[in-house]
Amino acid sequence: MEQIHYCSRCGFCRAVCPTLNEMDMNETYGPRGRVNLVKALEEGHLNESMALSMRIYTCTTCRACYFKCPARIEVDKIMEKTRTKLYKSKLTPSQLLEMEKSIIEEGNPFGMLKEERDKWMVD
Ligand code: SF4
Ligand code: SF4
Repeated sequence: MEQIHYCSRCGFCRAVCPTLNEMDMNETYGPRGRVNLVKALEEGHLNESMALSMRIYTCTTCRACYFKCPARIEVDKIMEKTRTKLYKSKLTPSQLLEMEKSIIEEGNPFGMLKEERDKWMVD
């Protein structure tokens, strides 16, 4: 997590982030924004919340930003560690909890019944 202090806010990472692009360049859904949200959280300037969790969990961990970052900040690793904290605080987005339940109980992430697998499974 020490890496959160290395961000110079240069913005070189912004051009390659798929979620930033998808969210109409809303900074909080991009690498620079996410790193600085975690920094604010760690420094006590921000509280844990579901709104924060959505920003953290929507990172795809693709690492595209890592290859553009002069400081080689591993945003994906920072997101994974922050997700662990948010999970313990019961702030994981409900869609992911439903997916987790489906994997454990039905053996697939789609919410489909395992006994009906032959009906919904595509060749
Ligand atoms: S490229 Fe690296 S240092 Fe620059 S804003 Fe993005 S995360 Fe921060
Ligand atoms: S690892 Fe996350 S923040 Fe970095 S480019 Fe991919 S989606 Fe964006």
